[in-house]
Amino acid sequence: MDILHLQHQTLFISDLHLSLDKPEITKRFMFFLKNRAGSANKLFILGDLFDAWVGDDDYTPPNKTIRLLLKELTSSGTEIFFQCGNRDFLLGQRFCQETGITLLPDYHCLDLYGVKTLLTHGDLLCSDDSAYQAFREKSRTTEWQENVLSKPLFLRLFMARWYRLQSHFHKRKKSTEIMDVNQETVYQVMQRYHVRQLIHGHTHRPAVHDLMINNQPAQRIVLADWKKDSASILCWTEDGYRIENLD
Ligand code: MN
Repeated sequence: MDILHLQHQTLFISDLHLSLDKPEITKRFMFFLKNRAGSANKLFILGDLFDAWVGDDDYTPPNKTIRLLLKELTSSGTEIFFQCGNRDFLLGQRFCQETGITLLPDYHCLDLYGVKTLLTHGDLLCSDDSAYQAFREKSRTTEWQENVLSKPLFLRLFMARWYRLQSHFHKRKKSTEIMDVNQETVYQVMQRYHVRQLIHGHTHRPAVHDLMINNQPAQRIVLADWKKDSASILCWTEDGYRIENLD
């Protein structure tokens, strides 16, 4: 057996934005779950796996198949961890029980082969977008969520489509700076959690940024969003990381 397959592997993905409208991405994710993820010990999904999540009672395609494949993977020994994104923040305990995945809080520290690493979706770092941050705060309250989840499923699905359409037009008016992370917020958060390594998604600007935290070199790794014709994963082993492109 190839030594690589015996090596402990941790994978990171985010921003697949799975939806019925983009069957290519769903197909690629299903292929990844069946043929690639199984050789990893841990898989971290850092949010926006789904383009919209209206509640754990939604079994409309492709959700049902995805649930089954996640369950197969966790049953076969790959641990899966999930952080909510700004699109799928309503994903809850029922989904976790059905799939065997573990839900993580918005900020989670991980010992990544000896280096303390902070994981987050990334929307909290975009603090210049105050309108969004206000909505975020409101939509994380129990009252707001209970109110939304008490609506019939068909209405929630309709509302999600409407919201998506609105945010599409709204986003075009926002400046590109506002949609990226705020550097000061990045420093503050990394200092608060005492980390020199941060992994997040959300901005759809994949990159590895070098920075200094308290006069020490630090890194901010931004995961790529999945597109119709390109997708990548971040694979970490004790030898370091590499970005794998999925064909
Ligand atoms: Mn996002």
